[in-house]
Amino acid sequence: MLIERPPKIYRGFYSGSHWRFNTGEKAVYLTFDDGPIPEMTPWVLDLLDKYGIKATFFCVGDNVRKYPEIYQMVRDRGHNVGNHTFHHLQGWKVDKETYLKDIEEAAKLINSKLFRPPHGHMGLPQFYTLKKKYKVIMWDVITRDYSRLMTSDEVFEVVKKYTRNGSIIVFHDSLKSGDRMKESLPRSLDWLIEQGYSFRLIEE
Ligand SMILES: [Zn+2]
Repeated sequence: MLIERPPKIYRGFYSGSHWRFNTGEKAVYLTFDDGPIPEMTPWVLDLLDKYGIKATFFCVGDNVRKYPEIYQMVRDRGHNVGNHTFHHLQGWKVDKETYLKDIEEAAKLINSKLFRPPHGHMGLPQFYTLKKKYKVIMWDVITRDYSRLMTSDEVFEVVKKYTRNGSIIVFHDSLKSGDRMKESLPRSLDWLIEQGYSFRLIEE
């Protein structure tokens, strides 16, 4: 519960960042973290095309450097992108200067005013500086598709249990998520559609 749907007190800590949007209608914001990589991202793009769904991809700069053509594919198919640092740094583990430099390094490749901190962690001085320049996007539902402790059934259950109007939902187009994501994502999309949710892009 504390992981899948972050508690209010934690949300308040990063006041001014976005966890959930007030849509006034039945809509969710689908997001994918840690790509783009050839093993996962094209698969996700094809699936989203099949459903006619647009999503927001928080890209790791180093992956964009390695796979610019896959990054371009994300853009060409009409999805939005956000900065997820260059080296997937944890804010708490590095000093402010190192963190901000890494994000600027990624910004040379990822043209976006959206930023999501890896692991949802940042020091407050890092956050205060970042939010002047970026729209900081957290999440309302984290599927935990990356966790070896989870089955794809359980990932799907997380989506069913915690999604609500305006939820920002996180999946990962990463090797760690692999089959767990590939099995749970189509089921989740089917369920969300069945429930009447529409899908929105996170705008800069
Ligand atoms: Zn990440």
